[in-house]
Amino acid sequence: MKTFETILYEAPAEHVARIVLNRPETRNAQDTNLLYELNEAFDLAAQDDQVKVIILAAKGPHFSAGHDLRERDTYQHMSEHKTVGTWCGFTCAGAEAQMAREKEIYIGFCERWRNIPKPTIAAVQGRCVAGGLMLIWPCDIIIAAHDAEFCDPVVSFGIGGVEFFAHPWELGPRKAKELLFTGRKMGAEEAERLGMVNKVVPLDDLRTETRALAAEIATKHPFALRQAKRAVNQTLDVMGFYAAVQAVFDIHQTGHGNALSESGLPITISIATNQSLVACLLTRHGIGVPLIDPFTMLSGLFPDLVMLPLSPAIEMRPRLVFPPNRPLSIAAREFVEAVVETVDELVPQSRLLHPL
Ligand code: ZN
Repeated sequence: MKTFETILYEAPAEHVARIVLNRPETRNAQDTNLLYELNEAFDLAAQDDQVKVIILAAKGPHFSAGHDLRERDTYQHMSEHKTVGTWCGFTCAGAEAQMAREKEIYIGFCERWRNIPKPTIAAVQGRCVAGGLMLIWPCDIIIAAHDAEFCDPVVSFGIGGVEFFAHPWELGPRKAKELLFTGRKMGAEEAERLGMVNKVVPLDDLRTETRALAAEIATKHPFALRQAKRAVNQTLDVMGFYAAVQAVFDIHQTGHGNALSESGLPITISIATNQSLVACLLTRHGIGVPLIDPFTMLSGLFPDLVMLPLSPAIEMRPRLVFPPNRPLSIAAREFVEAVVETVDELVPQSRLLHPL
C-alpha cells in the first residue's frame, strides 16, 4: 500500500478506506505537501473499486489548525507538485500567484473532494479552525466528538472568510455572519443543531461510531450511493452553491489583494484585532490583566517600550521596538524575548491553544 509523509491510509473495515491527517505536532496544519498528499490519498480511494466509503480523520487532540502559516516559499513549493487543475501563473507577481495557488490547492481541491463519487465521512475531534473547515465541508457526513469546536477567525486577518466559502450553506446566513463577525468558536452541539454536523458522539467512541456508519453505508450498492450523492450535490448546485462559492472566491481574493497592497503580505494580523492572543501571552508570562486594548496594556506595563502598528506581521510577531534614546529595563527586555519565543512556538497553533 502506498505510504505518505503526512497522511495515513488505512482500511479499517471491508470496503472502507480511512485517510488520516498525520501532522499532530503541528495540530495538522495544512502545508502544500499535506494538501497534495491528501488529494493523492482521496484519488487513491476514489479510484479503488474495492473502496465504497471514505473516512477522513485526524491524529492527535485537534482535527486541524487550518493552513500552515509557518510555511515559506509557498509559490516555490507549488512547482514541486504536479498540479491537478488547469490554472497557471503560480510564480506571477502581485496577487496573481496567491490566487493561482488558492484556485488549485484550496477551492480546486475542495471541489474535487466534494464530488468524489463515493460517500465521504469526516470524523472531527478538538479544534477545527478555518482551513480545517475546508477539509470537512466537502465531506458528505460529519461526525463530531463532544470536544469538537469549529471556527473561522480570518476576519481578524483582514480576510472575509476561507477560500471555500460554504458558510451560509453550512450554517444559515445569520449564524454565518455572527461566526464570521466575531470569530468565536462553535461547539459540537451547536454545530449539530445548525445541521452542520450529523451526529455528536463521545470522544472515545468517535473512531468506532464512524467506522460503524461507514460499514453500514458500504453494504449499499455503490452505483446507487454515487447517484444519491450526485442527486444531492446537483440539487445544491442548481440552487446556486457552485456559482456562489466561485463568485465569493473572488471576494476572498480582493481581501488578499488589499492586504498585499497594504503590507506586501497576503494577510494582515494586528495586535489590535488579536487581543486574545496577546492576553494569552501575557497570561502565560504570569501577568494577569483584563482583556482590554493590548496597546494600552503593554505600554502601561512597560512604558519604556514603543509599540508599532503591526503591518506586515504575517509571522504574528508583536512589533515591539526599543526606543533609541532610553535604556530598556531588563524585565521588559526579557518579556519581549519571551513573547517572541512564545509566538514562534505557538504559530500556527496559537489559534488552537490560547485559552480564551
Ligand atoms: Zn486565501
